[in-house]
Amino acid sequence: MRATLGAEFGAYLSALGEPPEKGLHINTVKCDEAVVDEALDLEKILGNCRRVKNGAPTRHPFYAAGLYYMQEPSAMLPVLSLGDITGLNVLDMCAAPGGKSSQLAAKLAERGLLVSNEVEVGRALVLRENIVRMGYKNVVVTNMRPNVVADTFGGFFDVAVVDAPCSGEGMMRKEPEAARSWSEATVKACATRQKEILVCADRCLKEGGILLYSTCTFSEEEDEEVVAFAESMGYSVMEIPKEISALGRTCGGGIKLYPHLFGEGQFFCLLRKNSAASRAARLKKPYCNAVSEVSEIRKIVDVSENIARKNDILFLPALNFDLPCLVNGVLLGRMEKGRFVPSHQLFTALGNQVREREDLPLDDERIAEYLAGEEIKGTAKGFCAVSAGGYVLGGGKGSGGVIKNHYPKSLRERRG
Ligand code: SAM
Repeated sequence: MRATLGAEFGAYLSALGEPPEKGLHINTVKCDEAVVDEALDLEKILGNCRRVKNGAPTRHPFYAAGLYYMQEPSAMLPVLSLGDITGLNVLDMCAAPGGKSSQLAAKLAERGLLVSNEVEVGRALVLRENIVRMGYKNVVVTNMRPNVVADTFGGFFDVAVVDAPCSGEGMMRKEPEAARSWSEATVKACATRQKEILVCADRCLKEGGILLYSTCTFSEEEDEEVVAFAESMGYSVMEIPKEISALGRTCGGGIKLYPHLFGEGQFFCLLRKNSAASRAARLKKPYCNAVSEVSEIRKIVDVSENIARKNDILFLPALNFDLPCLVNGVLLGRMEKGRFVPSHQLFTALGNQVREREDLPLDDERIAEYLAGEEIKGTAKGFCAVSAGGYVLGGGKGSGGVIKNHYPKSLRERRG
């Protein structure tokens, strides 16, 4: 770092002793930016991205309602630098826990498709939880190796994001373990793996498609040299918007954000594919539409789209093809002994269309009771959406002045 940074090295070292920066991006699919700006103590960075000045945003009910996603400031810049992506097919190859995917889904604004893939199963489950909390409807979450993603989709995508696993030199302030586990051998192993992932991402992209490559490390082997490798595959470096590139240092066609300049640490580069895709998508088998259960579902939620069915599961597919995945659009619920039981995602994604609601003002103590998994008092009847300050937290079932709690056990917060 001394050799790379020269006169800036002292500033970099002292920045490592400062507390890490916190940030968030606002889910503009669910709310206007002003709603979150008024609820929390934030400073605008660019677009829907904010720095957290004070407070603990994860304790506000709007966090559970999916109005924002916590993400450190430098990690937000790669997706911010993409232009308009609405209507496009977008792939996030290394997606968990979901920061960049959430930004991409917000940017798509329900027009287009995001396939959000994570290779490690435990992390893929966290990714699913985050996508469901945010309430996005047009996301497919997969748990595949990158070569399987390429075999499944072929050149289906207009945009591919590779936020690669890396040696984590930009994580050292936030997670001291990143410094302890760093070694030169890790850097070399990561660089090899990053190139393997890029080859798979390349197979997923159309000609003219955009590849966004990013890491949270500073080593040339994992940053500049991987970009050079992409150029050797027929990619050309694209310009990064000035208001973003001005926040870091340009290098090898990309931008590096160091902790003494902006956020925790990130490198990224935008590249355009000049060669043809290796082959077309192999997606072939469409889902069947549900018929008999549709009226049951519409008693609870006002949906007009085509509802699909696979075994006992009913959903609104983001992609109407049968493929192994953890999420495909909105899981509405399942049939159990001939009765429809709504899922949590029905409430997070379609909460405003649910016919019966229990609306709790933000200062109502029943919000904490609900998020802790307790039964609450309320007048709604049957399956209902429970909201805080107008934004839906999850579901419940009301009868006799009481709402039975359907907030998932894994998300419940301890009270006190
Ligand atoms: N994009 C994520 C976000 O913004 O929240 C962070 C991604 S993290 C930097 C890199 C991810 O790559 C990890 O979730 C890791 O499990 C995954 N990964 C590890 N080895 C991989 C491989 N061989 N191929 C693809 N992904 C891999």
